[in-house]
Amino acid sequence: MKANGEGTLLAVGWEDEFLGTASQFTASGIRRVAVYDLVAILAKLANEAQAMCSEHTQECDHIGEAIEFAEFNILGAYVGQGMPVFMTRKTFAEWQEEVDYEAE
Ligand SMILES: [Zn+2]
Repeated sequence: MKANGEGTLLAVGWEDEFLGTASQFTASGIRRVAVYDLVAILAKLANEAQAMCSEHTQECDHIGEAIEFAEFNILGAYVGQGMPVFMTRKTFAEWQEEVDYEAE
């Protein structure tokens, strides 16, 4: 992770998966954080793992390995305020379905 002058932390090496910034209102004012495409990050990690797999079979779980690697090394690499956000794009209807949310 690397911070710019505003304290926005960046996930170094994931520039192609950078989507933009998001603003969050906090007790100390507006904080701007970097937003990354989580699905694209996982796809790249899984493709790299598959490319390095010498005995690739149907049994391989490179997506699972990618998720585990990302959770530990990218999403779980907490270094303080201003951490990036890793987004999974979905429609509101998809989100409602997922969390069983019903509007009042
Ligand atoms: Zn494999």
